[in-house]
Amino acid sequence: MAKRIALAQLSSCWGCDQSLVDLHLGLLDVLPKLDIVFWPTVVDYKLADLEALPNRSVHIGMVEGSCRTKEDLHLLKVMREKCKTLVAWGSCSIFGGVQGLANQWDLKELLERKFIQAETVTDPRIPDENMPGFTEHITPNPQIVECDVLLPGCPPTSENTLDALTALLTNKPFDLPTKTVCDQCPMERKEKHIKKFKRNYEGNIEAGKCILDQGYLCLGFATMGLCGAQCPSVTTPCKGCFGPTPIMSDHGAKIISALGAVAEMEPEELKGSFPDPIGSFYFTDYAASYLSKMRGKERGQEH
Ligand code: SF4
Ligand code: SF4
Ligand code: SF4
Repeated sequence: MAKRIALAQLSSCWGCDQSLVDLHLGLLDVLPKLDIVFWPTVVDYKLADLEALPNRSVHIGMVEGSCRTKEDLHLLKVMREKCKTLVAWGSCSIFGGVQGLANQWDLKELLERKFIQAETVTDPRIPDENMPGFTEHITPNPQIVECDVLLPGCPPTSENTLDALTALLTNKPFDLPTKTVCDQCPMERKEKHIKKFKRNYEGNIEAGKCILDQGYLCLGFATMGLCGAQCPSVTTPCKGCFGPTPIMSDHGAKIISALGAVAEMEPEELKGSFPDPIGSFYFTDYAASYLSKMRGKERGQEH
């Protein structure tokens, strides 16, 4: 019998959904085993359709995106009520995503920046009609509701999503690896003596050789190895989009300590090498970091 599945999108770019659709004919392996009961991306389902389902009547729920609005928060809680197995799908869902970087500011500052101060604004006012209401900050979904399966990536590869679905359909566990992107990477490595960090646009990255050894910030050493090292394999630095491995407690802290060990430069010079350290070291997971939690506590926010 086909398993009932619901796929929901919170605030996100919908790229995780796109990655699933990118399976093209590969979808034929799983589609006959799935009974889709909610997937607004492809069919005009409404929230009321999901709310009308009996609790725990959906076998698999896939939640993409994070809670930037109160509407997102409601949808996440409804998904938890209706689904037996809830998958936090993608780095937005697990860690808060790129939009979690907004936790560096409070909501008032964000709204003023976007709707009043931004250089392109022609009618400066904060809209309040027909708005769902914003959450004060981004909290990773697993800190709001229990998530049974975590599938990171921005987006997870199509194969990652297929593997997770196949595991769920066959009642097998879907465990996250403790290996890193470096463990999957075919680039030739040497002992590291980094004397200067370059921005990606400075010079040319040499193919076939470790990108970090060449002085470019490649975060494969601190990032979960689930993507097959797809960026360094095409001579592009890893930005860390799959987040830390399950045995690393904080992504940015791991990156900073590792860079300190391999960079042959004074601490101030190392610090000055990265104009946007939070954006560089927590590309998709700032909202899940100790730093974000500490800043939230300073502002009296519950995380
Ligand atoms: S995890 Fe990345 S690809 Fe997926 S919805 Fe979020 S921003 Fe888009
Ligand atoms: S640092 Fe980057 S290029 Fe070097 S081995 Fe790790 S993933 Fe590959
Ligand atoms: S190599 Fe790094 S940035 Fe690229 S997909 Fe993998 S984890 Fe993400």
